[in-house]
Amino acid sequence: MALFKDKFVVVEIDAQTWLIEEHYIGTPCYCYLLEGEDSALLIDSGIGGDDLSKVTSTLTTKPITVAATHGHFDHVGGNAYFKDTWVHPDDFQVMALQQNPAYIIALLKYQSKWFIKPFVAPFVKAALKPKPLPEPKPLKDGQVFDLGDRHVEVIVTPGHSTGSLCFLDKERKILYTGDMVCTMGILLNLCGSTDVKTYRDSMEKLLERKEEFTTLYAGHHQRPIEPVYIERYLACANSILDNSGIKEEMGHGSWVVNYQDIRIEIPKNPRMCELPKPGQLPYIGE
Ligand SMILES: [Zn+2]
Repeated sequence: MALFKDKFVVVEIDAQTWLIEEHYIGTPCYCYLLEGEDSALLIDSGIGGDDLSKVTSTLTTKPITVAATHGHFDHVGGNAYFKDTWVHPDDFQVMALQQNPAYIIALLKYQSKWFIKPFVAPFVKAALKPKPLPEPKPLKDGQVFDLGDRHVEVIVTPGHSTGSLCFLDKERKILYTGDMVCTMGILLNLCGSTDVKTYRDSMEKLLERKEEFTTLYAGHHQRPIEPVYIERYLACANSILDNSGIKEEMGHGSWVVNYQDIRIEIPKNPRMCELPKPGQLPYIGE
């Protein structure tokens, strides 16, 4: 484990795979560096408050491609320090929105009624002075990153955002799940989130391939986690769809439905998830 100005913590998963924790907001963001014989893949790049390429260059000398599990600010902000970056096109608009300080200010004004300041303050600093990001290339379902002796497949799984996806490291049998499967809970109440049925279908899609992975690494919270979490989220989503799950009030315009040790947040008003028309800001909440 190594510390870089206290903002990055590197954890070795194996001799050619590293977790880089970015400690900028209350919940650390996880980036994963996978090195192959010819090249390396960086899955997610964090908020980007400090130069992540200074960390990755201490771990590999191979050329690095950066691919995002989705387009949220805490997964693509560090793209600013790399050239070859990939995001699913369904998240291009959300990514651009988060570069707009007017939207960030409106969102924070609304959400600061519920969230504690230590979570918000460093984010505000980074979000109000966004670094320009390189134009991303479009990820697509089934695409495979060939790193030489190592192959990583894109499995598109909309839900948390429309362009959310997972990466399957075929040789290591590891599934990188971003914000689609993690401990604590999944948010389906953000601008660009899908409905619950779409999220449920994504969990079914992952379960159809469960023989191909033994371990999950998520974008936040505990790591690694067991594949059984996919089944828990599927059950939770189904309990929302058949109305057997109990919706609890949680402020900021949302309900939460708990299932065992996980939870899904859903909007009271589906408008919260709609992408705005060009030139307009999204509906944030009353
Ligand atoms: Zn996210």
